[in-house]
Amino acid sequence: MLPRRQQAAAVASARPAPVELKAVRLVEGSTVREFAEKIEAKPRDIVTMLMQRGVMATINQTISPDVATEIGREYGYDVSFGDFEDMIVESEFEITPEAMEDNDPRAPVVTVMGHVDHGKTSLLDVIREARVAEGEAGGITQHIGAYSVEVPDPDDRSIMRRVVFLDTPGHEAFTMMRARGAKVTDIVVLVVAADDGVMPQTVEAIEHAKAADVPIVVAINKIDKPDANPERVKKELADRGLLWDSWGGQTTMVEVSAKKKQNIDGLLEMILLTADILDLKANPTRMATGTVLEAKLDRGRGAVATVLVQNGTLHVGEPFIVGNFSGRVRALMNERGERVQDVGPATPVEVLGLEGVPAAGDQFQVVDDVSKAQQISQFRQSKARATSLARTAARGLDQLAAQLESGEVKELLVILKADVQGSYEVLKDTLVKLSTEKVKVRIIRSGVGAITESDVLHAIVSNATASSAATVIIGFNVRPESRAEEIAKQEGVDIRLHSIIYKVEEEIRMAMLGLLDATLKEVVIGKAEVRDIIRVPKIGQVAGCMVINGSVKRSAQARIIRDNVVIFETHIGSLRRFKDDVSEVQQGFECGITIERFNDFKIGDVIEAYVIEKVAPSKLE
Ligand code: GDP
Repeated sequence: MLPRRQQAAAVASARPAPVELKAVRLVEGSTVREFAEKIEAKPRDIVTMLMQRGVMATINQTISPDVATEIGREYGYDVSFGDFEDMIVESEFEITPEAMEDNDPRAPVVTVMGHVDHGKTSLLDVIREARVAEGEAGGITQHIGAYSVEVPDPDDRSIMRRVVFLDTPGHEAFTMMRARGAKVTDIVVLVVAADDGVMPQTVEAIEHAKAADVPIVVAINKIDKPDANPERVKKELADRGLLWDSWGGQTTMVEVSAKKKQNIDGLLEMILLTADILDLKANPTRMATGTVLEAKLDRGRGAVATVLVQNGTLHVGEPFIVGNFSGRVRALMNERGERVQDVGPATPVEVLGLEGVPAAGDQFQVVDDVSKAQQISQFRQSKARATSLARTAARGLDQLAAQLESGEVKELLVILKADVQGSYEVLKDTLVKLSTEKVKVRIIRSGVGAITESDVLHAIVSNATASSAATVIIGFNVRPESRAEEIAKQEGVDIRLHSIIYKVEEEIRMAMLGLLDATLKEVVIGKAEVRDIIRVPKIGQVAGCMVINGSVKRSAQARIIRDNVVIFETHIGSLRRFKDDVSEVQQGFECGITIERFNDFKIGDVIEAYVIEKVAPSKLE
């Protein structure tokens, strides 16, 4: 037998003081084995712990971030998960911090936006014609989603500088990129026709650029037109918060004519000056990162993506990951269709050698660990498959509940078939009126007659395309045709058959109650004040408490509050009165409380016990 003090020490060291959790970072899609290695646990123990939580997994299966975080805590680790791409960059920085600094100037990337017909395409075309072809044999440019032009430096005209234009004008592409978390644009050129002035899409473009914090250079176009009124445009823009710099504002405005090729150089010069203020930098020595601008399946060449390389240099032969796919650069083609061996920062390039077609806006990242890249891409593909399966699996009234948990479904789409015109019109009105702020009922198709195959197909398609909706087919005094019934069964389309109007109404109402998100509410059930601290070998600190408010339950979660500041949050470990374990202690009684992984009590601390309650909405609001 060890002396008591040593015993206590041994116990203490077996249980690391978990108040200071050690941070570990795992890449998305890590397996049970990889997780175990990181937290210095035996993979088999982790499998057992997963089973205790109702998760059956082998050591080579991926572990879910939630469970990993929970188990990690028990081992004294604060587990977080990161994107594969981010972690590559992080580890690059760790190894060579100085070599990773972005010190080299890079070309600006420009998106042209503006109202329809104000001349975006014309402007992109004249810029391309005027500049790309210079000095190039043939000068034929391919459309790959972006192009570079050479512009003389405003300070020293003998020096040529590059500007990159994304050649899908309009704000859809811009917003889509942004929605996907990609930032490719440094400067927005806002085209406003001098004869037409500020229009709805002009305003939208301004809002998008502002939201993305991207500077705007205004191109007042069509100044060749007799009714051109640039002054009016400037005033209208001032009303929208873009004040011309000559009037003391911040916005550069250039008057141009795409048609007459007037002042295009002036516009390009202003773009360069704006870029100078932004002080854009990159580092050609890094592993390349970029964003997919376009991607397609080409019959002869396989999957091809135009990637805007944003940092680093991309070389032929390098392995990479892009969205859900990995690959190795088989060839690089520039905007003139020429094969190149490598491309530096701020360069659009066609990449061949992808294993699948990524989406525009996907991140492109060169990797050094090919097998890891493959593992991650497989993980992402299976995740994407699961998501799309979940989406296509038809969602009817019965399946709503589960989907609602995630807060996804907000609309009930109804396909309504009835025996006579009169009854479907009444039903239609009744159902639409059930719509609330939170859940809308929308009749997407209706008619007189049996439920047909095309009704069912319609339901399948709407389920697949509307991720935040559920679809149900209602038959009022009608039945599905046999083929329709068959497909509905196969695809899990929900068909409800009724013959009484109020029954239909009742059913939809119930479904909509399910549609509403159950709100999680935290309820404080009691408070206890720490009056004494007892050290118990093997257990640690026990707080001798007085319940000063409500009651404290063994099953509750707890917060330790010191001087009105929450210093720790966890579960209650044990709750005792005298020598007995109890499940609840009421106000005015003394008790002993231990808190999981907390051994730092001070007299006067308050333990606040709370529970999380799910409040199901009981009425339609
Ligand atoms: P987008 O919809 O913004 O891409 O506009 P387009 O580039 O397709 O141009 C719309 C129309 O305006 C076309 O008929 C162009 O020829 C015409 N247009 C474009 N720029 C000018 C210009 O500077 N002056 C004149 N007069 N017409 C122009």
